[in-house]
Amino acid sequence: MMTDLFITPKLQTLLPRLRAFMHEEVYPLEKLFLTRPYAELEKNELAALRQKVKSEGLWAPHLPEEEGGMGLNLVEFGQVSEILGTSPLGHYAFNCQAPDIGNMELLHKYASPVLKERYLQPLVAGQIRSCFSMTEPEFAGSNPVRMATRAERVGNQYIINGHKWFTSSADGAAFAIVMAITNPKAAPHARASMILVPLETAGFVHVRRISIMGEEGSGYMSHSEVRYENCAVPVEHLIGNEGEGFKLAQERLGPGRIHHCMRWIGICERAFDMMCRYAAQRELSENTPIAAKQIVQSWIAESRAQINAARLMVLHTAAGIDRKGTHALRVEISTIKFFVANVLMQVLDRAIQVHGALGITDDTLLSFWYRHERGARIYDGPDEVHQYVVARETLKNYGIKI
Ligand SMILES: Cc1cc2nc3c(=O)[nH]c(=O)nc-3n(C[C@H](O)[C@H](O)[C@H](O)COP(=O)(O)OP(=O)(O)OC[C@H]3O[C@@H](n4cnc5c(N)ncnc54)[C@H](O)[C@@H]3O)c2cc1C
Repeated sequence: MMTDLFITPKLQTLLPRLRAFMHEEVYPLEKLFLTRPYAELEKNELAALRQKVKSEGLWAPHLPEEEGGMGLNLVEFGQVSEILGTSPLGHYAFNCQAPDIGNMELLHKYASPVLKERYLQPLVAGQIRSCFSMTEPEFAGSNPVRMATRAERVGNQYIINGHKWFTSSADGAAFAIVMAITNPKAAPHARASMILVPLETAGFVHVRRISIMGEEGSGYMSHSEVRYENCAVPVEHLIGNEGEGFKLAQERLGPGRIHHCMRWIGICERAFDMMCRYAAQRELSENTPIAAKQIVQSWIAESRAQINAARLMVLHTAAGIDRKGTHALRVEISTIKFFVANVLMQVLDRAIQVHGALGITDDTLLSFWYRHERGARIYDGPDEVHQYVVARETLKNYGIKI
């Protein structure tokens, strides 16, 4: 198999175990997921599932060994992420879901010992959830240096005022990492800082869960509009140093894009499998399955080629990051971000088409993914921004500055 190229000794037994666990324990819960509010599942079936993951020793696979994880590098975790991504419940079950995974990494590297004890430990243990609050409705998120949220230092506190949206998973979360301007006179990239705000703080207002394609979701599976109205937090809640917000955001996003891309490849594989099964089984007339039609064969072949190419590109980028760090691989990271998001759109669209009317019902996972993953071409930088980065860096070699 082509991914054997990236198999390491740690993965040899881990990946088959994970595949078996997904089949036996996670996929059977998907019917409930499609018919019940997520917040209800979180409290009941998913809490029990998380206990099983822990008892199997598979919990939080992204963490270093000393933190109770598996100490996987990015190439290894990427392949884990693909398997977990084959179900919308996978990453949450293993406590390595965005945005918590990025927040864990940030707190692990930059938080004070007090913040680590109070917020990182329970987050790692899966006792609480968190969110990341950066984008504002009034400003183009594609140019993140433009924002209005302010954190003013008054004595030993930051007083935070601002309006954010798409603060994913804020519903039911214990804290947010908020991006706010602390140094308005500094250079644009040195103005903002990251500050941890417990959501029980007076002045935190949960405005609404934003309805997306007809569904507002709940709990972990939702995106909120929120306001910070004179929210006061101790200065010790600063993460890293003042003015380092964008630097930390870049660090958070590099590996984050590998995680997302590999999760999308997991979705692609599942949708591809569903497409092939349905094409083979659904008969247009006696002994003529949909798979007999050449156009469907072409969709299958195109999808296979695109998924394989996407996986190779992402794992190759992950290997580069493991060796040289995020900055050295920034062009490759931009390349996979828009490329894989578009492969995902095409594979999902073909799988839905092959399923006919069934494809747009909520009887299968396809419509959930079609609605929820359209955002893949927008979050963590829209396609166009990443395409610009790739073109800009390429054209430098041809004497063109854009
Ligand atoms: C599902 C989902 C989850 C999210 N979760 C979070 C979260 O947890 N926390 C958080 O803070 N934010 C989150 N976001 C917000 C996300 O980061 C922003 O949507 C993203 O940065 C784009 O900003 P915007 O929506 O303001 O679009 P804009 O910046 O207004 O851009 C609109 C469009 O303009 C075009 N465009 C932009 N720049 C260029 C360019 N340079 N060249 C050509 N065209 C361009 C693109 O087509 C783009 O889609 C989430 C978004 C989604 C969809």
